[in-house]
Amino acid sequence: MKRKILILGGGFGGIKAALELADDERFDVTLLSDKPDFRYYPALYRTATGGSKAQSRIPLADIFEGKDITVENDEATKLDREEHLVHGKSGKTYHYDTLVVALGVVTNYFGIEGLGEYSFGIKSIEEAAELKSHIHEQLLEEGRPDLNYIVIGGGPTGVELAGALPLYIKKAMKNHGIKHRAVRVDLVEAAPRLLPRMPKDVSRSVAKRLRKLGIKLYLGKKVEGQTRDSLMVEGKPIESETVVWTAGVTNHPFLRANDFVLTDSGKATVNQYLETEPSIYVIGDNADTPHSGLAQTALWDGLYVAKHLIQLADNHQPKPYEPRKPVYVVPAGPKWAAVLWGKVRIYGWVGWWLRRAADLLGYHHLEPWWKASQQWMEENVTEEECPHCLAK
Ligand SMILES: Cc1cc2nc3c(=O)[nH]c(=O)nc-3n(C[C@H](O)[C@H](O)[C@H](O)COP(=O)(O)OP(=O)(O)OC[C@H]3O[C@@H](n4cnc5c(N)ncnc54)[C@H](O)[C@@H]3O)c2cc1C
Repeated sequence: MKRKILILGGGFGGIKAALELADDERFDVTLLSDKPDFRYYPALYRTATGGSKAQSRIPLADIFEGKDITVENDEATKLDREEHLVHGKSGKTYHYDTLVVALGVVTNYFGIEGLGEYSFGIKSIEEAAELKSHIHEQLLEEGRPDLNYIVIGGGPTGVELAGALPLYIKKAMKNHGIKHRAVRVDLVEAAPRLLPRMPKDVSRSVAKRLRKLGIKLYLGKKVEGQTRDSLMVEGKPIESETVVWTAGVTNHPFLRANDFVLTDSGKATVNQYLETEPSIYVIGDNADTPHSGLAQTALWDGLYVAKHLIQLADNHQPKPYEPRKPVYVVPAGPKWAAVLWGKVRIYGWVGWWLRRAADLLGYHHLEPWWKASQQWMEENVTEEECPHCLAK
């Protein structure tokens, strides 16, 4: 009898685990995901600033073409541990012998008033497209750009988006026939420095680069609320109709709702094999591991769990999980990125090319080289829906 492996989530971790198990005839693999596509988050800021949607999205059907994997498009809602079943929103149930949970995280506004209603996000293709069309609608309707664009969150996502906005807005203004005028892009971060997970000297270099691009940094400043046309930062309003929230995520609600043991940060407690309990594994952003919250970690976890299951099927003593130190690559504006690779720091154009190489590798984790390079080339594609920009 084949062992039924049910994987929840068609993101970095879930797909990697499924692909690694696909060719092993001892397993019957089902991947359950609420979306028919995989989302390549690292490219979303480019999609939001004039890049193609295709670079941020790969249909699951393409990834698993020719693979012996069942893909179910459904939302996991409930776990029945006694019956070894996961219930889907559709009413269907999915049986497992082994369950792998890789559901990613969801946006968290930390209860700050108005953010849910008025801020934009870039955590999905839809959100990225909404932000882009808002920027263009403002230019079309009012004939002038919003004077102030605010990105909240000085982590990698906030830095890469803020870095890309000035040039994109300038291009859009040109397409809309608006003569040059000052555009303000602000970046607000509650911690006293950008990229708080990285060493101080890297934060300083990235801050210098963003300031050079004309971005105003509000460091050590907490956001307190948002209205339709302003953001309240430490008691002072900053006028803006374009505020993008990149500052907060929280673990997927499925874990709390289904009584997983969680740490104070809301991540699932896992043992040395990434198990939360016998036959249930939690990986990627959902798991409390040292480098959780990165695509590289989710891929590593997916690979580990697949190898672990193969070792068990071979009756070998499984090796414990060893966290892998990530390479941090943070783009900040055109053709510039900061790289932290062990103790080595690289800044500028070389960093940018390392980021390009990392993207190619990222796609290749999920697709053969020829498909991955096609996907990678999408970075050079400009995509606009705005009729003014299409005409240019
Ligand atoms: C804008 C942005 C930029 C980023 N840039 C980088 C970067 O440059 N480098 C880096 O290393 N990391 C980056 N990250 C972080 C990285 O994307 C995550 O760490 C990674 O996606 C985690 O992988 P995962 O498999 O745990 O979850 P995900 O990749 O989020 O996958 C979760 C999957 O579960 C599906 N799902 C959700 N709910 C359900 C449900 N109830 N039922 C079924 N399926 C469900 C989702 O649709 C999704 O397919 C970025 C994140 C964001 C948001």
